[in-house]
Amino acid sequence: MKNIHQLLRKLVFASFLTLTSLAAPPWASAHSVPLTIPHPGPYRDPSMWPRGYYPGDPLPPKTIYLTFDDGPWAFTGQLVDILKEEGVHATFFMNAFDKDHPNYANIHDDYLFHFAKVLKELVADGNVIGDHTYSHRDLATLTPQQIHFQLYWLEHELRKVLGPQMPAIHLFRPPYGSPWLGHWNTNAQKRKVTKALNGQFFVMMWTIGWDSADSIDWAKGEWYEPGPRYHPNTPQYKAKMKRDIDRILNRAHNGASGIILMHDTHPTSRDSLKTLIEILKKRGYRFDTLDNYCRWRWGPHVFDQARPAEAVH
Ligand SMILES: [Zn+2]
Repeated sequence: MKNIHQLLRKLVFASFLTLTSLAAPPWASAHSVPLTIPHPGPYRDPSMWPRGYYPGDPLPPKTIYLTFDDGPWAFTGQLVDILKEEGVHATFFMNAFDKDHPNYANIHDDYLFHFAKVLKELVADGNVIGDHTYSHRDLATLTPQQIHFQLYWLEHELRKVLGPQMPAIHLFRPPYGSPWLGHWNTNAQKRKVTKALNGQFFVMMWTIGWDSADSIDWAKGEWYEPGPRYHPNTPQYKAKMKRDIDRILNRAHNGASGIILMHDTHPTSRDSLKTLIEILKKRGYRFDTLDNYCRWRWGPHVFDQARPAEAVH
């Protein structure tokens, strides 16, 4: 079962690679665009495409959105520390845990409590938490009831840990980008998941080609590749770091903006973050969180009608 899961994941990311030649949209370098004018983007059938960011959508000029998926994890605290040192904020799409993974075999519903300190610090620092489902499921394969559980139980678990610090969660990133990025996904699957989201979440993908490639370009021993880790001083690990950094830096130039996908679960995401931020700063980029992206795109009151945090139980 797990092997199929891994294979699927490899196929998903392999398919993304074929799309990496998409050019940045013309507005990506439109420096004169004021940040306060909404940019609704292309029309999409709202019964299949909830509001959110999809590859090719407008982005504000010279802006980088750092996003980290699949945490919290052992490296999350170090990511938070680096962000703090650099004075920038990021968006974290979190799970409560992945039941499929052997590393989680002895972990139950108290998983998030192991990260109570770092979760509180992450929120207090001004970083944003998004929903990445309770246990990293492909929503296209689930029933509406299961989808509902995946979305709201993650928040239920987070609230137990964060208490009064629990933020309202408006942003959602679907595991594997499914059913919106997989070319095999059907319109029926899109409609099913869109209906289950019930207008309560903004679907936030990442910019094609701006993933750090950490998920497709593994150093042995990373999260879902069991085995002894490469030591950070080995050529294999260093080569992967360089590939991850270069992949993003090759796109983040001439003012092109992007939503960068990295992972809490990969040491190369942690080890390349500081270098990446410092080079992007030198290139004149600003950093922002995805809730501010939504405010830029749909106006400062975009979340006023959204579901209040207390309503989620
Ligand atoms: Zn994920």
